[in-house]
Amino acid sequence: MNNIFKKQTNRLFIIYCISGFAYITLLLLLSIRALPGFFMQVLFLADAIIKSHSEISPIIFSDAFIKAFVSGGISMGLIFIAVRGISSSTKQLIITSKFLNSLKIKSKVNIVNLDVTDTSVFTAGMITPKVYISSKLKDSLTSEQLKAVLHHEFSHCKDHDPLRGFIVQLINNILPKFPFKNKLKDIYFTSVELKSDEHSKNILGKKRPIIEALYSILSNDFSMSMQPNLAHFSNMPERIPVLVGAKKFNFKLVTALSSFFLFALVSLPVLAYTAKFYNCEHIEDCIQIFVNNLQSNSSENLCSMHSMDTPTSCTSN
Ligand SMILES: [Zn+2]
Repeated sequence: MNNIFKKQTNRLFIIYCISGFAYITLLLLLSIRALPGFFMQVLFLADAIIKSHSEISPIIFSDAFIKAFVSGGISMGLIFIAVRGISSSTKQLIITSKFLNSLKIKSKVNIVNLDVTDTSVFTAGMITPKVYISSKLKDSLTSEQLKAVLHHEFSHCKDHDPLRGFIVQLINNILPKFPFKNKLKDIYFTSVELKSDEHSKNILGKKRPIIEALYSILSNDFSMSMQPNLAHFSNMPERIPVLVGAKKFNFKLVTALSSFFLFALVSLPVLAYTAKFYNCEHIEDCIQIFVNNLQSNSSENLCSMHSMDTPTSCTSN
């Protein structure tokens, strides 16, 4: 059966994966190229300061120093953002697993029955996702509404939405800010929900049960929205008008725009990579000479190929 939201979700997921993979690869390549030159310039500066070299300002204002500082600074800034993103995703993963462990489980077959007082239903699990449903919600729904909710959740299981959601969130955390960044992420998560609503609607052949179930969950105090890495009933205010046919979920323009910015962002490391770099191909040797100079108070040139007056490049041949 036709499910346009599924196509949209898959397309966005692929855009995220390609951009994330390309961005990380290019950032690594950029860092490998830019950082040795950057550290070499720092060494030159430190060396000049230690030796009380009178010519410090020519080093700082040299073309090579500025280029190395800009490219090295950009790489380090982007690496910092990426590492912070990975650590925040890891924290979310730990919070989710603690949350799942804290649940009072009544019975567990394919669907995990929860003995909790709120009306929770969600799908969790990276490799083998399962549906978690509270007894309170089960009791409050008619059998048809319950079926609709379960088919919605089964669609999350079948499509591994918790894992995909984690990947999208991880890539989103790794990428630096760009226009419509959060909007694109919201579109992804709303389309995931609409995709599962559509699946439920198609299986039951009618949309009433899932709409009624959504209203029922919405009218209860549902405080799941803070839990990451779960495919849970979220974005309901956006979904209901789409489901009842009062509103079209228009994602094309924002998706196109944000994808454009996403690819523009990915091309940044490419541009930086192709720029002329100050390079040092034997940074380890230079560090060794620097350390020796410090220890023995000698003043050997850091790099034999390098002239202190006009720092241009530091290559071994
Ligand atoms: Zn859902």
